[in-house]
Amino acid sequence: MNPFIYDLSLEELQQWAVENGEAAFRGGQIYEWLYVKRVNSFDEMSNLSKELRRKLTEQFSFVTLNEITRFESKDGTIKFLFGLHDDHAIETVIMKHNYGNSICVTTQVGCRIGCTFCASTLGGLKRNLTAGEIVAQVVQAQKMLDPKGERVSSIVIMGSGEPFENYDATMKFLRTMIHEKGLNIGQRHITVSTSGIVPNIYQFAEENTQINLAISIHAPNDKLRSKLMPVNRRFPFEDVIESLRYYQAKTGRRITFEYALIGGMNDQVEHAEELADVIKDMNCHVNLIPVNHVPERKYVRTSRNDIFKFQRALADKGVNVTIRREQGHDIAAACGQLRAKHMELG
Ligand code: SAH
Repeated sequence: MNPFIYDLSLEELQQWAVENGEAAFRGGQIYEWLYVKRVNSFDEMSNLSKELRRKLTEQFSFVTLNEITRFESKDGTIKFLFGLHDDHAIETVIMKHNYGNSICVTTQVGCRIGCTFCASTLGGLKRNLTAGEIVAQVVQAQKMLDPKGERVSSIVIMGSGEPFENYDATMKFLRTMIHEKGLNIGQRHITVSTSGIVPNIYQFAEENTQINLAISIHAPNDKLRSKLMPVNRRFPFEDVIESLRYYQAKTGRRITFEYALIGGMNDQVEHAEELADVIKDMNCHVNLIPVNHVPERKYVRTSRNDIFKFQRALADKGVNVTIRREQGHDIAAACGQLRAKHMELG
């Protein structure tokens, strides 16, 4: 199959134009058609010569995401099931907030991280997405919003997959999202979430961006974290914390800790206190997520009351903490629930 046009950066498009006997600015025109005018075919790129459009058509493919179905929640959340060219399927979620639309994108088909509470990892990893396949999720969502005059205003990389195990594609995707000649999404409105792939946390610290980093911590110590997240045996708790301290010293950015509260596992006040002691001197914020039900998993949710107790215990030690607002429950689009059910049926 030809490469996917959304896989190319602006510079690569310019280079391609030059290699094909055209001026570099033609690359910029293609970029504008893709990300500003958001056309669906090379034929619509009317300021390019017929010859150039023919070359584009011959050398690149345009669409790889085909909308299999969409689920709309009562709260305005929309979950898309997109088919890829090789018959895999991925999920992308758009959430409506009073401040705009945020999109939750997927970076891998499946996942190999193995978190014991997560649905995305149940079938293992099938393959990485290319940068263009991640980009296309946002472009497609934006096209759906265009008739309403709305924008994708923020992005979370919290769909299926571990972005830092598909690092280069994820970074390329991010650079396309923030490019001022393209979608121009504010860096501070983008968050990448990792399960704690330590070498890539160091790498991300050097990227010189304003993009937010979130870390799925889910436990206050090494032992419990290994029980919930097998990846912790590869990259132990202390090493994760150390890498985050490095990231923070280097970037000065605030870190988000994600903590899924699982009844009777990691949700006691002692856990909150232990976590607070580890992170209270960091510039950070804890986001508590009541664990979402995954049929194959036996975990239960923490009661409302205990969630508030946990929150208070963190706050009492001076830690910023919020409880995640939940959306898309009725369509299984909440954190950890993303999973292409149709693959089982098909
Ligand atoms: N692989 C990345 C991003 C994916 S998931 C990561 O691990 O951070 C986004 C968040 O949802 C992560 O914090 C993940 O741990 C959490 N999550 C997964 N399953 C969940 C569930 N059943 N309930 C609540 N949160 C869950």
